[in-house]
Order: sequence, then structure tokens, then C-alpha cells
Amino acid sequence: MRLKNKTVLITAAGQGIGRASAIACAAEGARVIATDVDPELLKGLDADCHALDVTDGAAIHALRDRLPRLDGLFNCAGYVAHGTILDVTDRDWDFSFDLNVKSMLHTSRAFLPGMLEQAKATGTASVLNMASIASSVKGIVNRAAYGATKAAVIGLTKAIAADFVKTGLRCNAICPGTVDTPSLRGRIAQAADPVQAEKDFIARQPMGRLATTDDIVPLVIFLLADESRFVTGQACMVDGGISI
Ligand code: NAD
Repeated sequence: MRLKNKTVLITAAGQGIGRASAIACAAEGARVIATDVDPELLKGLDADCHALDVTDGAAIHALRDRLPRLDGLFNCAGYVAHGTILDVTDRDWDFSFDLNVKSMLHTSRAFLPGMLEQAKATGTASVLNMASIASSVKGIVNRAAYGATKAAVIGLTKAIAADFVKTGLRCNAICPGTVDTPSLRGRIAQAADPVQAEKDFIARQPMGRLATTDDIVPLVIFLLADESRFVTGQACMVDGGISI
């Protein structure tokens, strides 16, 4: 029970990496607060479930007022805008930054003060931000807006880690490679040639396969748990070798 007595909030917990993380955190003894913009997707989780649109700062603060202090916060929500810098629209650019980055400003403002109290009381608290290999780590084709947002996530993660390093509150990011999730399946289905698109996604993975969510969640648990207490400000790769 690596998360026993910990309260952990996860955004975008309805499907994909967020949902798998919610299940794994509960299995490790955490009290899980699972949130998603689509509350239908939260059904069946062993968690305290709440509808939450992470682009809505007022809703985040209103939810915070109904919750206990957090030991862990996993900012998982994110959106992939497809295209080069010449394709991306202002709308997609702004939406990507609102959902992938500004959401972390809102959740941090709402939850960090309580987490700092918790760190004072228990010695530790952990913020985990979802980045990607497509970021400052590596340029990936057709990920101009997405890569820019995820690079911003890494910068924000390091800034939070530096600002609070003496308090017990840690902040890290994870950088997955290509993970088989519903949204990846959606991107494959939307491609002009879905069979080729799936082959292309697999081809960019040096290990020759897509990740499953089971490949990602052990790192999520580690970074939320006290066993990672000497780790902060890191962008942790879990990418099947893309960044070698
Ligand atoms: P997904 O894209 O399949 O699911 C996303 C979830 O986010 C859905 O449950 C959806 O309802 C929720 N969501 C959408 N808009 C929201 C909003 N405004 N507020 C709250 N929730 C919202 O999940 P995934 O593919 O596991 O991706 C999760 C995160 O992991 C994202 O940040 C993504 O960028 C990142 N990531 C994914 C991959 C991958 O290959 N799948 C790789 C690297 C990083």
C-alpha cells in the first residue's frame, strides 16, 4: 500500500492514462478524487468522482472548497492538436495552451496552498504534471502546438519544484511515448489511411510496440509515493526508447 493515507486528485481520470492511474492509486491505498469533463466516463471507479473541466478556473476553486487537503495532484488532462506550425489555427493554439498548460495554473493556485499545509504536517506532498516526449525532449512531426504546450509543462514543473524545494512539496513531470489510449485510437481512426497511421505510430517507438497504460502507471505511483521523496523538478521519460 504505497499510497496509504494519501488523498490524490487526478484530472482526466475518465479514460486512458488518467483512468488507469486512478485504479492503480486506489489499489495502493489512496483516497482517489477522480475528475473528468465527462462524468459518465468516471463510472465504475473506486473513487470520489466529480465532473471537472480543467479549463474552468472557477469550477476548480469551487471543487477545492468541497474537498480535503491533497497529498497528491496528478494533472493528467491534455489535448493533441495535429499539424505543423503552418497548419495550426489560433483557436487550436489557444485551446491547447488552455487545456494543457493554463489548467495547471488553475489547479496549482487552487490546491497548492493546501498541499503546502499538508507537506508541513506530513513532510511531503507531490504534484505530477503530464508532459510528453513531444516537448522540449524531442521534436515530433505534426505536433507543433502540442509540443510547445508540453515543453511549457516541463518548464512550469521545474519552476514549481524550485520555488517549493525546501517545503517538502515536490513537483515532477512524466513524458510518455506513444500510449494506446482511446484518444490515440481516435487519432488513428481519423487519419486518411488508419492502417498506415497505426504502423507509423508503432514505427516511432524503438521497442517496436505502443505503450499500454500499464507501462505508464508504475511511474505515476512512484512519483506520487513517498519512495520518490528525493526526486523533484524532473521530466521523467517512460517512452520505450524514443529519447535514447
Ligand atoms: P485520452 O486522451 O484518451 O483521454 C483524455 C481524457 O481527458 C478523457 O477522459 C476526456 O474526457 C478528458 N478531458 C478532455 N477535456 C477535458 C477537460 N477540459 N477537463 C477535464 N478532462 C478533460 O487520454 P490519454 O491519451 O491517456 O492522455 C492523457 C494525457 O497523457 C494527456 O495530457 C496527453 O497529452 C498525455 N499523453 C498521452 C500520450 C498518448 O500517446 N496517449 C502520450 C504522451 C502524453
